[in-house]
Amino acid sequence: MAEPVIIGSERSEVGLPVGVEVLRRGGSALDAVEAAMRRCEDNPDDHYVGTGGLPNARGEVELDASVMTGSDRRFGAVAAMRGYPNPISVARAVMERLPQHCLLVGPGAELFAAENGFARAELLTDDARRIWRGQLTEAGQRAGDSVEGENTAAVAGDRRYREAALDLVRRLAPHEGPWGTINIMALDTSGELCVGVSTSGYPFKYPGRVGDSAIPGAGNWSDLRGGGAACTGRGELSMRGGTARTIVDLLARGSEPADACRLALADTAALPDEFRAELRALALTPDGRHGGAAGQEGSVYAVMTLDSTEPELHPRVAL
Ligand code: ASP
Repeated sequence: MAEPVIIGSERSEVGLPVGVEVLRRGGSALDAVEAAMRRCEDNPDDHYVGTGGLPNARGEVELDASVMTGSDRRFGAVAAMRGYPNPISVARAVMERLPQHCLLVGPGAELFAAENGFARAELLTDDARRIWRGQLTEAGQRAGDSVEGENTAAVAGDRRYREAALDLVRRLAPHEGPWGTINIMALDTSGELCVGVSTSGYPFKYPGRVGDSAIPGAGNWSDLRGGGAACTGRGELSMRGGTARTIVDLLARGSEPADACRLALADTAALPDEFRAELRALALTPDGRHGGAAGQEGSVYAVMTLDSTEPELHPRVAL
């Protein structure tokens, strides 16, 4: 049996020590992933997950998350869910308490969270609101300026707002610094391999937009016959590429994790996409090998084993 291990994408370092502690106590991969991810979701300085996540074009924080276990391919997810700070736990509850379904969205996900005793909270922090307003003002100025021959001051506020919001959606621009969805995957002493993914999605996205993080096969996949895989970055590409599932299929056919990630990303890189932005992938095998790939140089992922005192950063291969 492989040694337990937990790995995660950039900025998962905040949560991995909590997850490895669960594994040290003999806990399950699912418990480890959930505990580690909750810590990341509760970090208000992280603008891509949970509390503090950047909002949609209208300033509302909408969260996507999923979990999948490799022994039975059970999958639970929520998407475009507002007002609940730990979507990873609601996704797990969908998997365990609503096994006739895999994915709940929007008001249905919120109803289910309320029924299952999850506490509501304000997710839009002052900092995230400031970043959103800054982008909206910038886009608004461009939208106003672009109305040729018209006095920009006379452009109705609502129209200007709509144009600014649409401009943000068109640009889908990530902010500066390490950005993106968090992927965490763990292998436990029983050999179970769980993959968890959580995100506030693309900043300033169109309201109701769901990304790859909640979609099985796109942003998350786990199957003990190959391993687990997850994605960060432009979810529309991994949805069109079936990227996480492709990676696991490659693992099952004998590819090493970094190669499998690179090949799957190369497949999506061939797709026409005028909003192209970076896509990254991460993979773990049932015997504990791991690797990652990214659309650009310098990307890393974090790893902790039972002996680790802190997360160790490993390079991803660049496309
Ligand atoms: N994958 C996420 C999504 O498409 C975004 C990201 O990782 O930045 O929603």
